[in-house]
Amino acid sequence: MAAAGGLFRNSSLFCAGPFMKFVRVGAHSWACIGGGEDVLHSYGANQGYAVDGETCVVIDSGFHPGTADRILRRVHRQHPKRLILVDTHYHSDHVFGNSILGDDGAAIISHEKCRHRMLSQSPSLLVKYRARDSRLSKLLHGVKITYPTITYTDRLKVHLDKVEARIIHPGERAHTDGDSMVYVPEDRVLFSGDVLWVGYHPNLEDANIPGQVRALRQIIRLEPRKIVPGHGPVCGLFEVRRLIRYLEQFDRNLYKALVDKLTLDQTIDRTIPIWAREWKMRRLAESYVRSRWSNARG
Ligand SMILES: [Zn+2]
Repeated sequence: MAAAGGLFRNSSLFCAGPFMKFVRVGAHSWACIGGGEDVLHSYGANQGYAVDGETCVVIDSGFHPGTADRILRRVHRQHPKRLILVDTHYHSDHVFGNSILGDDGAAIISHEKCRHRMLSQSPSLLVKYRARDSRLSKLLHGVKITYPTITYTDRLKVHLDKVEARIIHPGERAHTDGDSMVYVPEDRVLFSGDVLWVGYHPNLEDANIPGQVRALRQIIRLEPRKIVPGHGPVCGLFEVRRLIRYLEQFDRNLYKALVDKLTLDQTIDRTIPIWAREWKMRRLAESYVRSRWSNARG
């Protein structure tokens, strides 16, 4: 494994932003918590890692090389000899940092469908993001789309030293069709990827809402002590139950609004739970409602 962080170490251009902070969530587990809600702050996407003995499993590589480099420098403080990266799903804010860890010798694992999505969508998503904004284009400079090399379809266990990390696919489409969650039973810590969002409206563009609710119920059954969500602060099961309530109300409200043939503005107002009005990235919820409303109009 190469020394950490060479390429991007000293460049303020690649600063991951003032929001990123590392939080210890278990004897072996760390969360890397993002912040902000715009694309220049990676939509606030989180990452994490668990270390035991000479092996470290990293969960997601972030939106750009600066984020991945910062994680890698942190991980190298523990001097692991083996690195494993798990991509929780194909969305760019979770996988565009892959090459930084891959070039450092990490094996990259994902669900089979996550890899398929990356193969078919990541190159064009990178072109699209680079064209969007010059500051974003600078942040994404050096992104080299790097695909998972190991895939699975159901469940997988990674054995660190004594500690294991269970990689869990919900069994159906939840946030996407290729989600992975990583559970470290020894710490009772779950890295949920974007199956769970805390204080952010979830991105539903690839989601199956009932499937996501069932995946959230799986999280409850695991009885984790701490959860590192895809976006938002470290939390417990209260936030899982709250997102279930949000998704169920959202789905029910949207169905009724479409049956009642409300206008677009009325549909948005009726669909998004009023008690979530302080949550970040409301535009994601609005854009999902807009596309469902347009589809219903044929
Ligand atoms: Zn996502």
